[in-house]
Amino acid sequence: MPEERDGRGLLRLILAGDRPGLWAYLRGHSSQVLLWLIMLGAAGGILAGAFGGPAWRSLDWVGDMFLNALKMLLAPLILAAVVSGVTGLGDLRRLGRFGPLAVLYYACTTGIAVLLGLLLVNLIQPGVGAGAASAMLPEGAAAIGEQGLSYIARQLVHPSLVDAAARNLMAPLILFSILLACALLAIGKESRPAVDAFQSLNKAMMQIVQWIMWLAPIGIFSLVAARLAEAGGQENILRELRGLLSYSLTVLLGLGIHFCLLSGLLLLIARRGADYLGKLMEALVTAFGTASSAATLPITIRCAEIAGVDQRSTRFILPLGATVNMDGTALYEAVAVMFIAQSYGIELGIGAQVVVFLTATLAAVGAAGIPQAGLTTMVIVLTAVGLPLEGIGLILAVDWLLDRFRTTVNVWGDAVGCAILARFLPRDPAPPK
Ligand code: ASP
Repeated sequence: MPEERDGRGLLRLILAGDRPGLWAYLRGHSSQVLLWLIMLGAAGGILAGAFGGPAWRSLDWVGDMFLNALKMLLAPLILAAVVSGVTGLGDLRRLGRFGPLAVLYYACTTGIAVLLGLLLVNLIQPGVGAGAASAMLPEGAAAIGEQGLSYIARQLVHPSLVDAAARNLMAPLILFSILLACALLAIGKESRPAVDAFQSLNKAMMQIVQWIMWLAPIGIFSLVAARLAEAGGQENILRELRGLLSYSLTVLLGLGIHFCLLSGLLLLIARRGADYLGKLMEALVTAFGTASSAATLPITIRCAEIAGVDQRSTRFILPLGATVNMDGTALYEAVAVMFIAQSYGIELGIGAQVVVFLTATLAAVGAAGIPQAGLTTMVIVLTAVGLPLEGIGLILAVDWLLDRFRTTVNVWGDAVGCAILARFLPRDPAPPK
């Protein structure tokens, strides 16, 4: 019945009390229903946490269960997705062309994000007159400061694959998966059973993601409500935001503009628009709810595949992107470091800002896709330009909230990247010989 495909059809079924018709409608529209439930969960979580009092904190275990269910999938999913994505390219030479293109795309978009952040923070000057303060450093930050940029290189290779998997260290897992896929391509025909096994494993993981997604409305509701309640509800949050108003607005404005820039690129190169945004909405709301692009990865892959992006791109580009492509984090790091300098009354000239540009880009690459990882890698940027690490204390109060917005932009950046890069894939996927 064509009229039942739209909202009016649904309304008519509800008003008529047509239960079988209603069930049939809901079954036929399950993905839209799920999306609405997830958005309702996020909105309900904001309202409950902001206005419902501290009692909502006790819901944190429900959110943690949802988060852990997603994290549990990460290691097998990365292995299966990356191996099947890369072997799907069919030829090592194709990877040799496609891989550098992906890195170039990531470098350009992250660079644009940092430039945008620097431009805004120089224009708005949110830190001038803000006054300096000092505070405790986040755990492990001092050690990262000492290691400097070598910290990022150290992230790549890990002595034990099992330990990396147990700790969800994505970079070594991805590196190993790419190596394994290259080896499978190199050995030719004999790799067929292994490639088939990874492909089946990938399908099974996607099936589990689909099941877990039905927990997302409650999971996201609990995560958001418990975190807002922990932050002291709307009065406390507003007070903290007001204290850092121009800094928070600068970061949010930058993130908003960058989100639009990425959407423009998507439209221009991949010729996709609102339909793609709609299809990715589940992933974006989950990113906001979890503040973790790594935990969101299984959902991002599922959404991009439902949106029709070539699986060779979703399986290779998205895991890579969730690890190294963090536009939102890069932009925020540049704004935050400049804000700290301004607050301390330290002028950073063009030379120092070039250093901020380079190190913020690399610090975002090195940040793990977990909550507030950007805050920790920011010490690399602060150290590079000689700013006091304690300056981090200035922005600590609102960081958990801004983190959710930058994670959303990080995930959108990955999703846009995989749709754009899919356009440059070879047309004829040659299976491994
Ligand atoms: N939470 C961010 C992410 O998972 C990283 C960060 O900026 O702290 O993408």
